Amino acid sequence: MSLINTSIAAIMPYFPKWMVKPFANPYVAGENIVEVTKIIKSLNQQGYKSTVDILGEFVEDEKQASKVLKSYSKLVKTIAKEQMDSTISVKLTHLGLGIKSKIAQKNFSKLIEVGKENRVGITIDMENSPYTSEILRIYKESLEIFDGVGTVIQAYLFRSLNDLKALDSNKLNLRICKGIYNEPKDISFQSKIDINKNFLELSKYLLKGKGYACLATHDLELINSIEDFVQLNKIDKSKFEFQALHGVPIKEKLNELKNKGYSVRIYVPYGPEWFEYSIRRIKENPKIVSYILKNMFKL
Ligand SMILES: Cc1cc2nc3c(=O)[nH]c(=O)nc-3n(C[C@H](O)[C@H](O)[C@H](O)COP(=O)(O)OP(=O)(O)OC[C@H]3O[C@@H](n4cnc5c(N)ncnc54)[C@H](O)[C@@H]3O)c2cc1C
Repeated sequence: MSLINTSIAAIMPYFPKWMVKPFANPYVAGENIVEVTKIIKSLNQQGYKSTVDILGEFVEDEKQASKVLKSYSKLVKTIAKEQMDSTISVKLTHLGLGIKSKIAQKNFSKLIEVGKENRVGITIDMENSPYTSEILRIYKESLEIFDGVGTVIQAYLFRSLNDLKALDSNKLNLRICKGIYNEPKDISFQSKIDINKNFLELSKYLLKGKGYACLATHDLELINSIEDFVQLNKIDKSKFEFQALHGVPIKEKLNELKNKGYSVRIYVPYGPEWFEYSIRRIKENPKIVSYILKNMFKL
């Protein structure tokens, strides 16, 4: 069965959108702001915080980047108006970083003004390695304007521990994740063992440092090790949170964490550009293919 799942997941990018939609549904919180608002409110009612991402990256021109800025600004205002417990997560290539750094910087400056005015936090997602230094530079500059800005460090990159050491401050709000892109061997760990080892090292450094730690993984072994570490070192629960992606089936663990009094935040993506994001998620867990097929055909 697992070979069948993996094979279907591998060819799914070539399927028409209507065929992929049922597989995408668990991961994507709808196509518009009304649909995502319902999901955030439901998560908040269950005791979870959220961070909302408008799906998409790499715009082609300035006009498209401005449109994305407008959608994010509307999202921030909706979060504030509806008093939802949510931040936003944004990719700088979505705001024009792939065209010119200045375009992304100008758009992001406008977005942080909206975030600051509405007291809604903003996390800059981390993208592939050609953008790492520029994203960290823009992040550091943004902190001077709004201390509700955070960013991300990827455990698969060799450089990450040095980046983290250079960033550590009491304003730091940092998500640690494994990293989703394919990176070359000369700059990144390739094996799960090495990536997990680095994830733990980064997490421990951040948890013992001055900033706020967001531990973003579905890897139960890592979550358990982090729990052991925070208990042993008596790290205050207000200094960190766990994060997971909407739709990844680890509800039981998240519930357990929440019931122990830890903060848990769910990353909720939405928008018309759901196709590529869903394909990535399905490839991470081809088992989803058989779950959905069983459901569809009531097997
Ligand atoms: C909140 C959050 C924000 C993120 N932000 C970024 C970012 O800014 N930049 C970036 O490069 N990456 C980001 N990622 C993605 C991250 O880098 C990993 O690629 C992804 O989380 C999978 O790694 P894992 O830690 O879950 O470990 P894995 O070893 O991949 O998985 C651990 C377990 O979880 C299960 N699992 C993992 N993914 C899925 C899935 N989609 N469906 C079902 N089961 C699954 C696996 O089957 C496995 O059993 C983010 C992840 C999270 C949770």
